[in-house]
Amino acid sequence: MQPLRGTKDILPDETIYWQYIYNKALDILSLHNYKEIRTPILESTELFERGIGETTDIINKEMYNFKDQGGRNITLRPEGTASIARAFINHKMYQKKIQRLWYYGPMFRYERPQSGRQRQFHQLGIECIGSLNPMADAEVIHLAHKLLNQMELNNCVLEINSIGNLEEREKYQADLIEYLKPYIKDLDQDSQKRLNINPLRILDSKNIKTQEILYNAPSLNKYLKKQSIDHFNLVCTYLDSLQIQYNINHKLVRGLDYYNYTAFEIKTKLLGTQNTICGGGRYDTLIKQLGGPETPAVGWAIGLERLLQITQQQLHIQNNHSNIYIITQGIEAQKKIWQIVKNLENEKINFELDLSNTSLKKQIKRAVKSGAELCILIGEDEIINNCITIKILNKHKQYSIPYENLLNEIHQLLVNKNYS
Ligand code: ATP
Ligand code: MG
Repeated sequence: MQPLRGTKDILPDETIYWQYIYNKALDILSLHNYKEIRTPILESTELFERGIGETTDIINKEMYNFKDQGGRNITLRPEGTASIARAFINHKMYQKKIQRLWYYGPMFRYERPQSGRQRQFHQLGIECIGSLNPMADAEVIHLAHKLLNQMELNNCVLEINSIGNLEEREKYQADLIEYLKPYIKDLDQDSQKRLNINPLRILDSKNIKTQEILYNAPSLNKYLKKQSIDHFNLVCTYLDSLQIQYNINHKLVRGLDYYNYTAFEIKTKLLGTQNTICGGGRYDTLIKQLGGPETPAVGWAIGLERLLQITQQQLHIQNNHSNIYIITQGIEAQKKIWQIVKNLENEKINFELDLSNTSLKKQIKRAVKSGAELCILIGEDEIINNCITIKILNKHKQYSIPYENLLNEIHQLLVNKNYS
């Protein structure tokens, strides 16, 4: 049997990278007082319909929806922000002025699988909830930038835009539709469909002909009023102070409806068409829209598969070999070994216990193959003499020591590297 299309097993050689990212995120985000939150993977479908917006790709065609045995409409979460907004409201987290939260986990979207695009993929994301201050926008962008740098991702560009508030966008949207209508036949198919339901998304089209048509289209930034402009300018000023480079891209809009003011993406030239690693922005209306108090917020999500596609080689992380390979023969040895196992655990020395119950010769072969430095062996002779045999595997050297001296000897060998 195969895994489902668009899903992948992450094997032990790769999980080390995932653990590395998790730990890096924990380190960096903790410094800024971000706390991890874990919300359920299953949510009611309504959460996303109300949260993400009916005209988005996610809601229209990408959701994993099903009815559970109680007839409820359930969705496998396609993104993290709506769930966090729900949890924020349910647990009255607004009682604290600012909530800084982060998450790490699988998301599900029914898309056409291709390089950098899966049906189950993973996101690391943060949300800074409770502040309208452009400093919050700068803080979250700084953290994305910092994390990506720590993951050895150079070669990426931050693109940033202000998409204004709802009123400004509605005005712009009406003018954009007017402008595009005469060209409708020349637009790509997706854009034709979007013209009336979500025209802003046309700006995002990768189609060359559509891009040409957009060249003379009205520009969203001309529709922004003082408040939006001031906010955007301050975010840019803070980014300058943080020495974070950015390109202002007036055509950048985000796939989700709930954004306002700041929208940004971090892209890399190293991936083909799936080149956006991180997407985020400000969403001041979402929490109210889901039934909570009016609460401004800003955040982002990083696609971890896309990030790893680029950085995996650079990180040079390997699964460690066990230091010690443990061989036993005979029931008495196998009874005695557990005390040694517990001692090694206490000393935090990693080891691998041979479970094969085969001849000593075969077990020794396995020890050599395992890559361990040392092998400790208890067979029938060792039981009779109350001793342990130690083999230094890469030196083909072997000797016996009294049982009680084992830990001391191991320390000499592993810590002091005293093999003489
Ligand atoms: P795209 O335009 O590539 O579909 P998006 O706008 O739908 O991206 P977001 O919802 O902003 O993406 O998600 C944030 C990040 O999550 C993306 O920038 C990307 O790195 C990652 N991501 C989104 N969808 C997928 C997917 N199907 N497979 C792998 N990673 C994904
Ligand atoms: Mg998408």
